[in-house]
Amino acid sequence: MSETATHKGSCHCGAVAFEADLDLSGVIECNCTHCYRKGLMLGFVSPDAFRLIRGEDRLSEYLFNRHVISHRFCRVCGVEPFGAGKSPDGRDMIAVNVRTLDDVEPWTIETIRFDGLNKL
Ligand SMILES: [Zn+2]
Repeated sequence: MSETATHKGSCHCGAVAFEADLDLSGVIECNCTHCYRKGLMLGFVSPDAFRLIRGEDRLSEYLFNRHVISHRFCRVCGVEPFGAGKSPDGRDMIAVNVRTLDDVEPWTIETIRFDGLNKL
């Protein structure tokens, strides 16, 4: 079942806050060296479905591998609320860390496992 709804999210300290129109039926857990360490659960939206409410000046960026994904994390508390990158067909995408949504209980979400360790 797919259903897009508007969710609010934030980093841990609250310096960064955002809203995203997100379908929680396609959330991915990836086993790559980065996602695994951070425990990311990622839902993907186009940039027009994502609104940064506050905290642009608190966000830092982490790049690795081919530098195609800009992992954005709060400089105060270290939490990564989202990243920005491209879909396989070249469109701009925002990868929302579903664990940072205020109104979603992560254990209620069925995730799709992605073998990023071997496929990225
Ligand atoms: Zn923070």
